Amino acid sequence: MGNKVLIRIIIVFGCLSTMLSVQAQDGRRYGASTPLEADRWELEAIYQDDDAWLQDYKKIEQDLNTAFECKMHLLDTPQMLRRCVEHYENSSMRLARLWSYASMLSDQDVRVGKHYELRQKASMGSTQFSSAWSFLRPSVLEAGKVKIDSMLESYPPLAEYEYFLSEILRTRLHVLPLAQEELLIKTTALMEAPKSFYTLLTSADIDWPEVTFSNDQKIRLDQSGYVRMRGAKRREDRRAAFDVFWGSWKQYERSTGATLYAQLRQHDFVADVRHYENTLTASLDDENIPMAVYDRLLTEVNRGMPVLHRYFRLRGKMLGIEDLRYYDIYPPMLDYDRSFSLEEAKELTIRAVSILGDAYTEVMKKGFVSRWMDAYPQPGKVPGAYSNGSVYELHPFVLMNYHDDYESVSTLAHEWGHAMHSYLANRNQGFLNADYATFMAEVASTVNEALLLSYMLEHAKNSQERLFYLGQELENYRGTFFRQAMFAEFERDIHRRVENKQALSGQSFSEIYIKLLRRYHGQDDGVMIIDDAYGMEWAYVPHFYYNYYVYQYATSITAAHAFASGLLAGDEAIIETYLNLLRAGGSANAYQLLRDAGVDLARPEPYRRLIARMDVIMDEMESILEKDKQ
Ligand SMILES: [Zn+2]
Repeated sequence: MGNKVLIRIIIVFGCLSTMLSVQAQDGRRYGASTPLEADRWELEAIYQDDDAWLQDYKKIEQDLNTAFECKMHLLDTPQMLRRCVEHYENSSMRLARLWSYASMLSDQDVRVGKHYELRQKASMGSTQFSSAWSFLRPSVLEAGKVKIDSMLESYPPLAEYEYFLSEILRTRLHVLPLAQEELLIKTTALMEAPKSFYTLLTSADIDWPEVTFSNDQKIRLDQSGYVRMRGAKRREDRRAAFDVFWGSWKQYERSTGATLYAQLRQHDFVADVRHYENTLTASLDDENIPMAVYDRLLTEVNRGMPVLHRYFRLRGKMLGIEDLRYYDIYPPMLDYDRSFSLEEAKELTIRAVSILGDAYTEVMKKGFVSRWMDAYPQPGKVPGAYSNGSVYELHPFVLMNYHDDYESVSTLAHEWGHAMHSYLANRNQGFLNADYATFMAEVASTVNEALLLSYMLEHAKNSQERLFYLGQELENYRGTFFRQAMFAEFERDIHRRVENKQALSGQSFSEIYIKLLRRYHGQDDGVMIIDDAYGMEWAYVPHFYYNYYVYQYATSITAAHAFASGLLAGDEAIIETYLNLLRAGGSANAYQLLRDAGVDLARPEPYRRLIARMDVIMDEMESILEKDKQ
């Protein structure tokens, strides 16, 4: 579908590590020495230079003429239909390539104006592309299932695009008459308004104060300052970080409340005019995910809450704190300062994923030595990490900001999980079927993280190291499973209120949020105390503007845990099933692909398995602590 391809081009990957926390940039490597060429990606493999890019860009014009011809004759014959969809596929591929080059070039140094211009140009190309092909969807819908089916039957080569066509036909009940669709397209820019206000306000307009922490350390408490200080070892420091940071947000409670409310109204409006029962049904319909998945996730998370509370109690014990507070959830439970060079990180990742077979690791090794990755922080380079699998005919690219800590090693394994997923899907599917659904997007990356952790645990040299990695695994489940599910519950709750015509202000968001926060962190059970002021946290999460996005982090880690534990148990059959899942890309419904691979996310089992693993981890940690005491 036109939409899907565009979204894929615009959002490369919403990795949790990149999007939820603005990573602290400490510039350790800045100016020290320029990284070797071997550790920088080779964008010249896509286009030799900007001129070559411009030459390819010019071809968009020709593509547009063909689009016009297709508009006239799309359904004349099955042969014509196939030719047109193929043409659409090739143009999308070109656009993805143009966009990838321009955006990655710009990401490696955002200060270069010329790169930014290329990026703008690519974005203009996408707009032209989508407007030229906007007839495709309504035309296929107008032809209807009976006609498309008979074309598929009379001309077998059309089968290559059967899933693509069926996905268009699936949404027929929610597509409006052409004139109304055109009207809706024209509102797109207006619909972006709340998100743009929010982004501007939070990235540019808030005046973040400077705070003096212990040892006279002065830090500006903006988003990255907060991420840096919230895990401070000294309790007074992290409490100050929390109080000041959330205090700053509090001044914007009214305005961030108004933008979020406007965004929710917009979701409600679209769901309503497209004849969906509610906003959640509308959002899940995008990738055809059953409502039972969302419901099941929240049911099982609530059922597993005592296990999360057990983790907080254990954390308090390890930190030596009796009256646990919300600002005690980030500091590491024990010291572990081992550093890892980039080469070590690559080596460890290869060894950890070797369970997936030589064919898998050979590709990864090749990528490591063939400049698929831009590894180190550089002046002007964007923060965070991502994988871009959109240069279909070449190979995936990975952006990192590698530091020497374990988190970086884990991020490397994570991003290469995305990269390998793209690689396998691109090699086994046509372009239109290769792009995997968002619902599946974090599975391969999280499986790699889990395999890495398991490898580190197996090779831990002493009980301290073991405790460290067990703690890391627990933290993953807290942050990616429980916390994201809590966000998902918040999202469902606030949308429901809007659907019921309830007006919501920043203050009401805070009241709803703090209740949820206290329930998840066990305030009534005496687990932890959370100050009212921290109820502002909802305003900090940009994902609430993405229309039910976050639950997929929780379902992905659940699926990943199921696959990883099967793989680690030495189940030979699972290796092939899992690799086939990656090879399938986006050639079928994501929920069904996962279910057919043995993980049914509408059933309780995978969730209970993950929660049970948390108990196993804590049993071991407690027994280590017990032994160490003796
Ligand atoms: Zn990711």
